[in-house]
Amino acid sequence: MNRLVVASNRVVDPECGPGAGGLVVSVLEALRNREGLWLGWNGEIVASEEDLSISRQNFEGITLVVTPLTEADYNEYYLGFSNSSLWPVHHYRLDLAKFTQESAEGYRRVNDRFADMLHPLLKRTDLIWAHDYHLIPLGANLRERGVNNAIGFFLHIPFPPPDVLAAMPEHGWLIDALLQYDLVGFQTSVDQANFCRFVCEFLGGKMRSQDTLFAAGKTLNTGVFPVGIDVDAFISIATSPEAEVRIERLYRRGESRVNILGVDRLDYSKGLPDRLRAFKRFLELYPQHRKAATLMQIASPTREDVQAYIDIRRELEGLSGEINGEFGDFDWTPVRYIHRLVSRETLAALYRGSQVGLVTPLRDGMNLVAKEYVAAQDENDPGVLVLSRFAGAAEALEEALIVNPYDTDEVAQAIQRAITMSRDERMERHQALISRIRLGDAHSWSKKFIHALEACRCCTAA
Ligand code: UDP
Repeated sequence: MNRLVVASNRVVDPECGPGAGGLVVSVLEALRNREGLWLGWNGEIVASEEDLSISRQNFEGITLVVTPLTEADYNEYYLGFSNSSLWPVHHYRLDLAKFTQESAEGYRRVNDRFADMLHPLLKRTDLIWAHDYHLIPLGANLRERGVNNAIGFFLHIPFPPPDVLAAMPEHGWLIDALLQYDLVGFQTSVDQANFCRFVCEFLGGKMRSQDTLFAAGKTLNTGVFPVGIDVDAFISIATSPEAEVRIERLYRRGESRVNILGVDRLDYSKGLPDRLRAFKRFLELYPQHRKAATLMQIASPTREDVQAYIDIRRELEGLSGEINGEFGDFDWTPVRYIHRLVSRETLAALYRGSQVGLVTPLRDGMNLVAKEYVAAQDENDPGVLVLSRFAGAAEALEEALIVNPYDTDEVAQAIQRAITMSRDERMERHQALISRIRLGDAHSWSKKFIHALEACRCCTAA
């Protein structure tokens, strides 16, 4: 079996154990099975390049190779090009995207450095897997250094339509870099189609099959690999005796309440202001739920050094204050807004204790919260998932109540429908959803990608 080499922006602490998300569990599992190597940033920041160092650590047969970033790298590569240019463009938000020469140079510099670090560690037969928008050029950088191994790339975030991407300075060389991989994986068929359309319409590429492109003199394989969760691990957290105690405490059972839950990083792609407006509309349209229905919105802090994130936080705090001021009473707070990172154990209890999971991003690569919400439900009395059609998860989770997050009235009506849905219908929908989530869980995700990457080279050799 070939060794697996993974490169990602961050290397997480592998000792985080069962608390880790499905994605990390899945990558670690694949690395463990193949005595793999994982390279990336350790989360630390140093003053200048003279202070940079590389450290190696072994963990359960996996070699971790990590490095800090310099302050300039952090500002230009991470906050700058990755999170102020690529992130908004890939979430269809050209209006929020910022482009500077320094940030693009910082992005190239860190990707070059990662390639320099990785190159001497590679064996001829390694399978190399680069992750996400931070490392788009890594494969091309390795090719420049003579690496002829199978190299795959997986994009965890959406891929925008061709015209949106074309508006981004620097997009040309980024696409050229993607063409250097053997396999480029996406979360959904919409993302895959957007990428293929770009290559065909702007670069004269030709589709050879649904998943194969011919462009720039070579064949490129693409594929759809929706990220999943570790279903059983999540169910066991949500059904533990501790979870029961938590649910009692969090929701003070016995009081007649309708608990509606949102869980997101505080990111403008998550559609949080639109969600609050829809909840307000729900209170206007269905006044019978006033004093009973509460929207608990967990909005965990993220990228707080970027202006767009400071703005969205302000907007959200203003809106929740406005709704609570207009509708709240001495014994009822309509919106409970929590700006904090919440543990997975608490989240599992919150999911299980709420009748409605409100997942309404304006655009999202996948959205694991939607899957976790379903997994945490009591199968005999499950809650209802209200899901944006623009979340990657909606491509598979057809039995959720699918909504357009921009349509305030539609979301308000879906909340009402979820609350008043019969138990039979809820159980039926839940059963279908949990089967779909099991089918594409975290364990199968990395296996499918690696299998497809191996197959690319088998086909070429034949
Ligand atoms: N999450 C968490 N604590 C929080 C908020 C979120 O542990 O306070 C976890 C959540 O359980 C999920 C992940 O963060 O596993 C968010 O993944 P998702 O795909 O929904 O969105 P992303 O943050 O990757 O855009």
